[in-house]
Order: sequence, then C-alpha cells, then structure tokens
Amino acid sequence: MRGKNPIRGQDTDSKKIYLEKIFYTIQGEGPFSGYPAIFVRLSGCNLKCYFCDTAFEDFNYNLGVEEIIDMINSINKHKAKLIVITGGEPFRQNITPLVDKLINLGFKVQIETNGTLFLALPWSKDLTIVCSPKTISLNQNLIPYINYYKYIIQADYVSSCDGLPEYNSQMTSASSRIARPCDNFNKDNIYVLPMDEFDEIKNERNIAACVSVSLKYGYKFNLQIHKYAKIE
Ligand code: SF4
Repeated sequence: MRGKNPIRGQDTDSKKIYLEKIFYTIQGEGPFSGYPAIFVRLSGCNLKCYFCDTAFEDFNYNLGVEEIIDMINSINKHKAKLIVITGGEPFRQNITPLVDKLINLGFKVQIETNGTLFLALPWSKDLTIVCSPKTISLNQNLIPYINYYKYIIQADYVSSCDGLPEYNSQMTSASSRIARPCDNFNKDNIYVLPMDEFDEIKNERNIAACVSVSLKYGYKFNLQIHKYAKIE
C-alpha cells in the first residue's frame, strides 16, 4: 500500500471477518520459512507504513468462522498443517474464534502482527506470534506472547547500538527507534530481513546492511524467499 491506505482501528465486535483472500503457497520468511501453508490475508491495517508492499484494502469477503474453514478446506488439497493469519493487521478484527477452531482442528497457526493491538487468544504451543515492529512501542499485553521478532532493515536507518531499525515507518526520511525485544529475549528468535524498495541498488545496500547486522549482533538473516521464487 506504500503508506496510501486509510488507518483503520480495532473492531472486535463483529462475528464476521473481512478478508482479502485465502491462498496456498510457501511461507517465505520467519520461523516457518519454506513450509507449505495456507495464508489467510485479512483486510485493513491500523498503520500505514511507507514501505508496505502488501495489498489489503479490497475487503473482498466478510465471512464467519465456518465459512473461512470451508474455504481453507476447499483449497487444502495437500493437507498443509500450517495456517498463516496475516494482513493488514490481524489483531484489528475478532480472530479469537477462528484461531480457536483452527487449533482444535489440529492446525498450527502463525499470526503475523505489527504488535500494537491485543486480543485474548487461545495461547498454546500450536499458536506462534511473529511480531514485526513498526512503531516505537508495542502493546504491553501482547509482549509476553511474542515468540519471534522480524525487523525490516533499511541501509541508512540502522542503529549503531544494536543494528536494529531507526526509521519512522509512518513517515519517509524521518527516524525514530522502533520497539525492541526485551533485553533477555532469545536472539535466535530475532530475524532481520532487507527492505524491498523495488530499486536494485537500494535493495543491494539493504541486503548488505542486513548481512552486516546479522554477523555483528547474531540475529538470524532471512530473505523473503517467495519473492525469489516468484510466488505469492
Ligand atoms: S503494519 Fe504491516 S501491513 Fe500494516 S501498513 Fe505497516 S507494513 Fe503494511
């Protein structure tokens, strides 16, 4: 959306969920990188990041839990075990019943979030929260449940103290310190990925910066492999 989307607040009253699409692909980044997965992309976001490369403003479907499960089952011909709930910002809508149902059906669920909102979810080993911070602070209630952090590295906006981003995601060319994991968070669970700026030269610099902070600080270097494989 490249910062062009409206900011949408949290609305957890509705029993139905607005979705962009549900599709089968390979998870391209983070702890389940390489796993075949069903992606459930929800509509709308409460932030508008200038580098956002995701479309989430079509609001194509408004579905209840059973209807979403039916859609998942209809495309899950190869019995993928992993469901990735992403957006937009998934915590914006009432996903608790959906997550509950998916876990009860035996799926592993990964939620990708910017970490600014909270919902009480059925926390369990089958639910993984991957937070990609975009703001200077995170929702205090969510922090204890975050399993992994993902940081998008842009070459000119890297902290000389810890190698993590110092940019203002809501405003190009301004800088602020993006929220960090707490000091005792396991570094093995912190991923760094180069920002895709759709510019070959900038992207090369971002990859080099990402490699550099990974080697210096011990974060896991990660590429968005779905882009190299030219899949969604
Ligand atoms: S939080 Fe994520 S989905 Fe929302 S605008 Fe930022 S990058 Fe895009």
